Amino acid sequence: MNRIPYGKHHITEDDIRAVVKTLRSEYLTQGPKVDEFEQKFAQFTGCKYAIATMNGTAALHLSALALGITPGDKVLTTPITFAASANCVIYAGGKVDFVDIDKESFLIDLNRVEDKLKKNKPGTYTCIIPVDFAGYPVRLDLLRDIADKYGCRILEDACHAPGAYYTDKDGNRQACGNCNYADAAVFSFHPVKHIATGEGGMVTTNNRTIYEKIKLLRTHGITKDPEILEENHGGWYYEMQELGYNYRIPDILCALGISQLQKIDKNLEQRNKIAQKYNNAFQNHPGIPTPVIQKQVFHAYHLYVILTDERKGLYNYLKDKNIFTQVHYIPLHMQPYYRHMGWKRGDFPVAEAYYERCLSLPIYPSLSEEEQQYVIDAILGYFS
Ligand SMILES: *Cc1c(COP(=O)(O)O)cnc(C)c1O
Repeated sequence: MNRIPYGKHHITEDDIRAVVKTLRSEYLTQGPKVDEFEQKFAQFTGCKYAIATMNGTAALHLSALALGITPGDKVLTTPITFAASANCVIYAGGKVDFVDIDKESFLIDLNRVEDKLKKNKPGTYTCIIPVDFAGYPVRLDLLRDIADKYGCRILEDACHAPGAYYTDKDGNRQACGNCNYADAAVFSFHPVKHIATGEGGMVTTNNRTIYEKIKLLRTHGITKDPEILEENHGGWYYEMQELGYNYRIPDILCALGISQLQKIDKNLEQRNKIAQKYNNAFQNHPGIPTPVIQKQVFHAYHLYVILTDERKGLYNYLKDKNIFTQVHYIPLHMQPYYRHMGWKRGDFPVAEAYYERCLSLPIYPSLSEEEQQYVIDAILGYFS
């Protein structure tokens, strides 16, 4: 059997044609494809504004700055996420604090968020970064109620969850990244994510001020917009108004992103089918608990995580069969960088217990039925 990774991009001939067309065009970067990708992505998530960036980490960094995280601010996030969800706070000069996860959904535990906010002086925490881990949407309607009580902003890390949605307390469908409850949301287009551009990211928001700030910071803090210039010396004139970055994404990659976005529904459908197949295969096996999903949630299945006491044995056994599962994630507070800031094993027991047993199985649109069966047979074979 071919090498089977846990996640993989799916590039088709029409993707390649779209990129080649841009390569033959006037613009390789800062051309019309950036705007088109942003507009189509905004429409897809149902938000007002979208800003494309060089990667998801740049999107997080710019969002942290635009949401006003400044030195001295403390920000809450989950330990079960990719490092960038927390690192962006430190880039902006703020301090990270973690909240343990819910043991069923593996998402940041909203009760614990509220407890933590209640126990501290008002204003201690200025922002919360919930992560739609594995593709499971966080209940942002409920988090918004909590955040409002304590004056916190919400930055949704939706890198795992384009197209996912939940039903809010009023019965309305809320898509990840639509920013009806979050101040801003971020996505990544790294090849293991749903939409692959090689490197790429996006911020979505409904807030015009945040949108304009991120656009400015994305390109060195430089503007030519006559409306906001402090002076104007002529047609050549531009101003650097803030210390920004070069976090732009080229037109070449946006052309690929637009083409990939057209196929997202199929992608999500395929991932859900594979998840259903895994659920059916393992449902009668007490040694392999499968994901528990609330009703009225549409899961994006960036990851399909099982829990097993035999994680290491299973991981090695599957690797010998050319199946490369992965562990998402080593809790962030256990990473040396964060340990050196004072966190230690035992601080977040639910996340740590989850880490002892979690394993992400292969799930991606081009995983064939034959490969799916091969994975299932291998896992059942290990346990029998
Ligand atoms: C992938 C990912 C990021 C970072 O995205 P890059 O595009 O790789 O910079 C941030 N947060 C989460 C949860 C991710 O999975």
